[in-house]
Amino acid sequence: MAQKKEPSFRQSVDLMFNRAVALMDLPPGLEQKIKVCNATYTVRFGVRLRGQIQTFTGYRSVHSEHMEPVKGGIRYSMGVNQDEVEALAALMTYKCALVETPFGGAKGGLCIDPRQYDEHELEQITRRFAYELAKRDLIHPSQNVPAPDMGTGEREMAWIADQYARMNTTEINARACVTGKPLHGGGIAGRVEATGRGVQYALHEFFRHPEDIAQAGLAGTLDGKRVVVQGLGNVGYHAASFLAAEDGAKVIGIIERDGALVDENGLDVEAVHQWISNHGGVSGYADATYVEDGAKILEIDCDILIPAALEGVINLSNAAKISAKLIIEAANGPVTAGADDILRERGVVIIPDLFANGGGVTVSYFEWVKNLSHIRFGRMQRRQEEARHQLVFNELESLSDQTKSEWRLSPDFKQKYLRGADELELVRSGLDDTMRAAYQSMREVWHGREDVGDLRVAAYLVAIGRVADSYRAKGL
Ligand code: GLU
Repeated sequence: MAQKKEPSFRQSVDLMFNRAVALMDLPPGLEQKIKVCNATYTVRFGVRLRGQIQTFTGYRSVHSEHMEPVKGGIRYSMGVNQDEVEALAALMTYKCALVETPFGGAKGGLCIDPRQYDEHELEQITRRFAYELAKRDLIHPSQNVPAPDMGTGEREMAWIADQYARMNTTEINARACVTGKPLHGGGIAGRVEATGRGVQYALHEFFRHPEDIAQAGLAGTLDGKRVVVQGLGNVGYHAASFLAAEDGAKVIGIIERDGALVDENGLDVEAVHQWISNHGGVSGYADATYVEDGAKILEIDCDILIPAALEGVINLSNAAKISAKLIIEAANGPVTAGADDILRERGVVIIPDLFANGGGVTVSYFEWVKNLSHIRFGRMQRRQEEARHQLVFNELESLSDQTKSEWRLSPDFKQKYLRGADELELVRSGLDDTMRAAYQSMREVWHGREDVGDLRVAAYLVAIGRVADSYRAKGL
């Protein structure tokens, strides 16, 4: 039998797109318009470091401008290339449509190993990259708004925001040119953990539907579920930590670049995370079994597998050996199109990336709105809300006195009810609502259409349908 060839990441996303549009009734022209990547800008720039000029290659790809600004992170990794950024930009278009953030899709990347540079060098490189993009409006509050992705975080976003502000000194909305900034640099509470929190909320919603749980061959709640996480970076760490600490899930495997840790009784996510920050990897960690060939741990028996690092980790070479019942794609594109076919046939339920990791861009949207409105969420309402609740209490208690009744509200209830919501609570509430609504929109298609057998195709159907509606509304 001829060996099936693995398509590139970009082709993989296109294959998934094709599988969905085959079930739609779009005019071929519109189908093509949605699918293609509008533009990819490649920049090569030099930075003087350690006495000599080093040249870097970066990209910003805009997939769809049916809504503006376009949105998507900037990745720092040696694996960055045009195919990858374009695939990621396309995923952003569908993701934004699915989680209803009013953006088109984009992505950026810089081909760099950030661990090879110190903080000052990274700042020089980031500022120069930001300058190259900003002068072409590829960073712009109303046109193109980057965010963190693999290898970047709050620190890089703060440099980008500052660089943009320096170049646009009279732009009152300069801060809205990038999201994922530190709280004290124009950011929003809850953005750092947003993608991981979104993964948790996605699972909460999944476990609210007994039919869906049964489809994955699971039962009950998240409590006690055996979880394997691949990649304990920002997304994987927060997802694993919330699931273990708040939902009673047991993290039995953690896979990192230098190997994996396993413990059937559940790993201490915080301790492992700490170990990785101190030692750069998992090897040497004493309280678990270390397995050098980390990829093997993707295949161990577990209830939920959370790939939270790179694309393509579940592919034609290992898809048949995956034993998880449910896969939730915290990373972008962790399952290739070929692997997806195999897993689907085997009845594994996959919660697809465009939904599963949509929490990041959702909270980015809140941050962007906060920046444009120049006011923290809750600042106007919070005390007024508390005062109104207090009014109800006073009234109830005076009624109770008048009727000489014995009942009293418990102090604990009073305290909880009285408190008005702060920004973090509002962000969480908005994120939870978003993840529930997006899951339900996929689910309706998944169970409502005879020709739809999985959540991924359902997600693409919903997303592409919304992008198509938006193009049609423009008269295209
Ligand atoms: N990089 C994240 C993603 O892939 C976040 C994008 C954003 O917030 O714009 O979804």
